[in-house]
Amino acid sequence: MTDLQIASSIQPKHIKEIASKLSIQEDQLEYYGSDKAKLPLDLIDEKSVNNGNLVLVTAITPTPAGEGKTTTSIGLGDALSHIGKKTVTVLREPSLGPVFGIKGGAAGGGYSQVIPMVDINLHFTGDFHAIEKANNLLAALIDNNIQSKTKSIGIDPRTVIWKRCMDMNDRGLRKIVAALGGKSGGVPRETGFNITAASEIMALLCLCRDMNDLQEKCGNIYVADTWEGKPVYAKDLHAQGAMAVLLKDAIKPNLVQTLEGNPAIIHGGPFANIAQGTNSILATKMGLSLSDYVVTEAGFGSDLGAEKFLNIKCRMANLSPKAVVLVATIRALKYHGGKNIKELTNEDVDALEKGLPNLERHISSLRSFRLPIVVSINAFSSDTDAEKKFLFDYCEKNNIPVALSYGWAEGGKGCVDLANKVAAAVEGCTQKFSPTYELTDDIRTKMEKICRTIYGAENVILSNKANRQLKQFEAMGYGNLPVCIAKTQKSLSDDEKRLGRPENFDIHIREFEIATGAGFIVPIAGNILRMPGLPATPSANHIKMDANGDITGLF
Ligand code: ADP
Ligand code: MG
Repeated sequence: MTDLQIASSIQPKHIKEIASKLSIQEDQLEYYGSDKAKLPLDLIDEKSVNNGNLVLVTAITPTPAGEGKTTTSIGLGDALSHIGKKTVTVLREPSLGPVFGIKGGAAGGGYSQVIPMVDINLHFTGDFHAIEKANNLLAALIDNNIQSKTKSIGIDPRTVIWKRCMDMNDRGLRKIVAALGGKSGGVPRETGFNITAASEIMALLCLCRDMNDLQEKCGNIYVADTWEGKPVYAKDLHAQGAMAVLLKDAIKPNLVQTLEGNPAIIHGGPFANIAQGTNSILATKMGLSLSDYVVTEAGFGSDLGAEKFLNIKCRMANLSPKAVVLVATIRALKYHGGKNIKELTNEDVDALEKGLPNLERHISSLRSFRLPIVVSINAFSSDTDAEKKFLFDYCEKNNIPVALSYGWAEGGKGCVDLANKVAAAVEGCTQKFSPTYELTDDIRTKMEKICRTIYGAENVILSNKANRQLKQFEAMGYGNLPVCIAKTQKSLSDDEKRLGRPENFDIHIREFEIATGAGFIVPIAGNILRMPGLPATPSANHIKMDANGDITGLF
């Protein structure tokens, strides 16, 4: 059965039943149909947040298909409920880019899914659309100001860094010339689109404390320079009020359910290769306010998602997870061990062993944060007993807590061993995480610490442009911001072809972007793009609907 067939075979419970498990009153819910609801921010209770148990799910360097962090998060959340822990799984909202591209939906898989799966993967409660509108309103205000003879604040059109956004993999919009059509069309200038998941509005919505903070962050977005070289912020265009109004519902976390009828909160969806890669601070705090355990996922491998989750999000929100689950798959380790991607289903203990250095590197990086780790082997039906035994024994021999997880095949009951080990880790955790760098370190030092401690790199090499920008940002007073490195997810290095555990490599920073609204600096390593393209055969080609409205092909 496909994920979609499994998801469609289960009738979701009314969302008020799910809410009642969290002691939420019916009249506190804002219903979006009978199976989705928005939660008011006043349900957040800082005292419960501090007493809650946050569990982070991350992974080794993934294959293009993903290694099952979302699936494991949902299975683990259901399993924690099975063993009597009041749990909410808190996840990101899927982006349409991957849904129609190569990776597919992001609502879990097999018997560990969140529903309504089709809605969650498509328009859901409209948060992505609202974010896109707020982003594009600011772009329209910029072009309108450039056009105006009387109201101009003197923006040099060549310096506008603010781009439009759309939630689609559309390489044709990556670089464009806008405002053509003569005098009435505006002042033509070179610009482009980001995918919504990589936009600063997505980032700041996920990092804001409340509606006021959201509005302030919108106002602080750096958009361009004047002809005199002075920075222009969104507030100089009086944009923040209208932008915040567009986001008034998008700021509220969304409540849905797992296939097993346990509560799940899904909110915000920044990518982890080009943004901070975790759901909103408000959603995490909401989960911690309403339950004892929150299981949450940070995108791609631990070099991207976990690093940013801890150093950016947790630091900003004063959160600290009590355990980290590192998802590993036998197929990905064989891939890192040099096996052809088309042959990953064939038994090969040799390749598995050769791939172990990738797992080792992720473990040593995570240990630098001083948090308890549990390795979860996400079992695939193609894994052989010999392979599973080899990997399990390797972890046990090295004193790494490990569980074989069958969440995809069995739902929560397939993750009970993992849940018990995670609960034990949580109960044994007495300290907060140690960040990789201090905010007071200068930007270069921050990057070097991440690249060396987390990626295993030697040096950070800046292009001339990056060097110039670095000086500019420090002169502007932004040297104290955290850094959110944009890097390929396919390798620990910035070269996607270097699998396994690359050694003797440098990280090359091509240029910087700065997100003064969200509050971080984005060093761009290698050739990573903020607007992806579709593959030659996108998954969109296989999605169909019949006369009854039944959908196939949406994974
Ligand atoms: P991630 O969150 O790490 O990107 P997902 O949980 O979204 O990964 O899983 C990626 C894809 O792999 C999904 O289509 C999911 O259904 C599938 N998948 C995950 N775990 C398994 C498994 N154990 N067996 C088969 N398919 C799986
Ligand atoms: Mg995921």
